[in-house]
Amino acid sequence: MLERGPDPYHPRKDSTGRPFKHVIDQTLYKRNGSASKLFMGHGLGGSTSIYGAVLLRPKKEDFSPGQHLSQFLHLEDHHWPVSYEEMLPWFEKVEAHFSLRPFEPGVLQSDIQLAPINEEISRRWALHGLKPGILPLAIDPEKCLQCEDCPGYVCPTQARGSTRQSLVELERTYENFTLWPETEVLKMDRHKPEVHFRRMGDSRLDIVRADKVILSAGAINSAAILLRSGFGDDFPALGKCFMYHAGAVVFALFKNPTHAGQRFVKQIGLDEYYFGDQELPHKLGVIQSLPTPKAATKPIRNHLYLMMATVEDLPQFSNKVELGGDGRIHVHHKFHEYDNFRSAGAKRILRSLMHQAGALQSFAATAQMNKTHVGHQVGTIRFGVSPKTSVLDSWCRPHGMEHLFVLDGGFLPTSMGASPALTIMANALRVTDYIIQQN
Ligand SMILES: Cc1cc2nc3c(=O)[nH]c(=O)nc-3n(C[C@H](O)[C@H](O)[C@H](O)COP(=O)(O)OP(=O)(O)OC[C@H]3O[C@@H](n4cnc5c(N)ncnc54)[C@H](O)[C@@H]3O)c2cc1C
Ligand code: SF4
Repeated sequence: MLERGPDPYHPRKDSTGRPFKHVIDQTLYKRNGSASKLFMGHGLGGSTSIYGAVLLRPKKEDFSPGQHLSQFLHLEDHHWPVSYEEMLPWFEKVEAHFSLRPFEPGVLQSDIQLAPINEEISRRWALHGLKPGILPLAIDPEKCLQCEDCPGYVCPTQARGSTRQSLVELERTYENFTLWPETEVLKMDRHKPEVHFRRMGDSRLDIVRADKVILSAGAINSAAILLRSGFGDDFPALGKCFMYHAGAVVFALFKNPTHAGQRFVKQIGLDEYYFGDQELPHKLGVIQSLPTPKAATKPIRNHLYLMMATVEDLPQFSNKVELGGDGRIHVHHKFHEYDNFRSAGAKRILRSLMHQAGALQSFAATAQMNKTHVGHQVGTIRFGVSPKTSVLDSWCRPHGMEHLFVLDGGFLPTSMGASPALTIMANALRVTDYIIQQN
């Protein structure tokens, strides 16, 4: 297993004593023409080393996006090539691994202690007939320090479950499994399972051969590796339909302290607006609480409360990853008018929810304003039935190929109304089980 970044738990520490900064990708990409770093993980565990650990199931309707987005999709893309029912056992497997209970509207009992502000907000929402539930967090409550600014950095106690832990466990268990951190994959052979790589600090190129190869460098970097390897000639959809959710965020100010500046409050969510409301009967996604921004002072943070709405963004062929003549990876992305329309509607819903919860004032913004946060990067190597609009078949192999599998967020044909990590993990288990059955 070759990984470009380091092992987050065997590094130098930063000034706060946390072993963090260098597990955030420092590569300069070009985003819409400007050199830019993109906020994503770079190390064993990838972005799950710094993610929020909310492992939400998408809804059955997410697997048939034509139901809500038909006018914007090719006919071939109205249904995913895999059904919700086929994915369900794998969702359950990941949930069992992290001891999670799936999100259930109206259910607020859990092993975690709800922050008083969340109890208060839930109580007030219930008076309005709303049904908040507990977010399924892959966080071990016994080890968790309740840090107010989680996530965005490596968890100091390993309370936050990441795929890094599974990789280390695999290495401990199997003699024939080896982790090679600080090893960059440059390209792969199109015709045989052969990977060209370079160890960090060593300019020599090396080659590793196998029976089968699994590529999981994330939607942006996996697309770039395949493009560099010449797959673009055979797969016109490669690199296209890059998505990362057109979310909206509300910042609400409360008279009584929320204590969000001193403890973990990202605990509750609502799925009642997944398909919008009467005023906006359009697909949006899950609404969930967030930590407060570090830029504000503690006294202000202690009266703030943040929520975000996940807004499913459209797969557009003009939003893409390309290789630039300058040797950099270029990312082009502009939200569709329909994405902006729905995120504007989501802002209204979020503000109204905060006022129902007792906020004095609120301000809302959309993902358009954030230029670096591509945390929910998906698409670019979509699975599907047609090589015209997709790259991968239902087992995540490039159409017509047997030896290569792509198992990261790139396979997602649409971005769904829920955050992607659970679906990426479940799909990886589904496909690796298939690979094992084939051998
Ligand atoms: C701050 C933050 C918070 C998030 N919170 C949530 C959340 O609460 N819930 C949720 O569902 N999702 C969340 N996400 C998204 C989630 O983490 C990602 O969807 C998921 O980790 C993507 O998995 P992946 O395998 O596609 O890619 P990644 O996890 O990004 O893994 C790709 C790995 O490949 C490595 N790599 C890249 N290029 C190369 C190369 N050339 N050679 C070798 N290795 C390479 C990278 O270093 C990286 O380690 C969050 C993301 C961020 C950044
Ligand atoms: S809040 Fe818990 S899970 Fe998050 S960084 Fe702190 S200890 Fe880790």
